[in-house]
Amino acid sequence: MLYKKSELEVFELPELPKNLKCKLCRTNQAVIEAPSLGAKLCKECFNKIFENRVKKTVEKYKMFKSENKVGVFISGGKDSSVLAVVLKKLYPDLSLKVVHINLGLRYYSERVEKKVKEFCEKFEFDLYLYKLEEKENFSIDDFILTKFKHKVCAVCGIIKRYLFSKIAKELGLEVIATGHHLDDIVSTMLNLFFQGDFVSITRLTPVNPPIRKGQAKKVKPLVSAPEKEIFYYAVLNEIPFVEENCPHGGITPAKRLKHWLSQLEKENRHIKYQILSVFYKKLIPLIKTSSEYKKEINLPVYECINCGEITSSEEKICSRCRRVALLKDLEDRLEISFEEFKALPKEDVEVIEIDEENIPGKRALLKKLRGKKDKKVYLLCSNPELSYSIVLWLRKKGIKAINVKTTN
Ligand SMILES: [Zn+2]
Ligand SMILES: [Zn+2]
Repeated sequence: MLYKKSELEVFELPELPKNLKCKLCRTNQAVIEAPSLGAKLCKECFNKIFENRVKKTVEKYKMFKSENKVGVFISGGKDSSVLAVVLKKLYPDLSLKVVHINLGLRYYSERVEKKVKEFCEKFEFDLYLYKLEEKENFSIDDFILTKFKHKVCAVCGIIKRYLFSKIAKELGLEVIATGHHLDDIVSTMLNLFFQGDFVSITRLTPVNPPIRKGQAKKVKPLVSAPEKEIFYYAVLNEIPFVEENCPHGGITPAKRLKHWLSQLEKENRHIKYQILSVFYKKLIPLIKTSSEYKKEINLPVYECINCGEITSSEEKICSRCRRVALLKDLEDRLEISFEEFKALPKEDVEVIEIDEENIPGKRALLKKLRGKKDKKVYLLCSNPELSYSIVLWLRKKGIKAINVKTTN
C-alpha cells in the first residue's frame, strides 16, 4: 500500500515474498520489515513490539495511573487513531474517552468526521463529537477572511489548544494523550532550534504537567514510535484513517526537516533517537537553567475575562479570544448558494467558470484577475469543492473570491 500524505511525506508498505518466515517467532509469514528493528516480522510480532514500546514509554514517564480518566483527541489521521487503539489494547480497564473536534473546514471536515465515526464503530469507541460551527458559530475557514489568512494553521492550533482544555474540563479528563510521534517531535525540535526558539523546545517533553490546578496533564505515548511504523500498524490492523491533508496545510519548514531526517536515516537508522536523546538528556536541562527560560516561566498569568482560560496577556484577553473577535460582524463570505448568486445584480458580477476537466493554471488565473483586487469574483464549477479550494488560494493572494455552491 502506498500513502502519499504530501509531496514530502510518502509511506509505502512493500509486499514481502510469500515464503518468508518471521525472524522472531519463525512460524508465521513475515509481512513487514520494521525499519527501527531492521528485521522482517509477522503481524503479531510487529504488533507486540510496537505496543510494548508504547507501554514502556507510558510507564517510564508515569504518564497516567489506572484510575485516571484519559482522553485521546482524534483528528481522523493515523497517529491519534493508532494511539487510541493501542491504549485500549494495553489498558482495557482504563477510563478512555475518545474526542473528535469537527473544525468546520468546508467539504473536508465532513469527510473526516465520517471516517472518525467509521473508526469508532469498528473499534468500539464511544465518541464525543464537538462541532465547532454548531457550538461556537464560526469555522477555521473563516480566518481566511481576516489578517490571519496566511497563518490559518497557527490560529487553528490556538483554537484547538483552547478546545482541548475546555472539553477536558467538561468531560473531567485528567490526562490528554496526543499522537505526537518520534518524527514530529524531532523535526519540531530541530525547527525550533534553527529558529533559536530554545524555550519552546522545553515543551516537547513526553509529559507536560498542568500549568495550573484543575487542568489536564498532556502526555505523548508515541514519542519513541517512528511515523513509518505507526503507518504500518494502521495498515496491518485495518485502522481507518483519513489519507488526505488538511486544505490549509502546506509544506512547512518542519516538514522539510522531517523529510531531510528520513534521508539521513537511510545512512544511520538511529539518527532520530540520537537527536531525541541529546535534546532530552542534555539540551533541555541546560535550557532550563537559562535566565531566558526562568523569566518565561515566571511571567504572571491572568484569567481571560472572556473565556476564563489562562493567558499571559496583561489586557486579560487570551490569544484565542482576540482572534475569534475578528470574526464578529464579518460580512464577507467564502461561499454562497446558487440561489443567492442568481439574485445578484448581473452588471457588477465578475464570474469565472472552472472546467473540472481543464483546471486553469494558478498563474493564468492570477493574470486574468490582475487589477481586480477590489472586485468580488465568483467561482462556478460543477465540482464546488474544487472551486472552493481555488477560492481559498485566491483569498491568500488578496483576491475577494467567493465560491458558488452548485449542487451536482
Ligand atoms: Zn512472528
Ligand atoms: Zn479567552
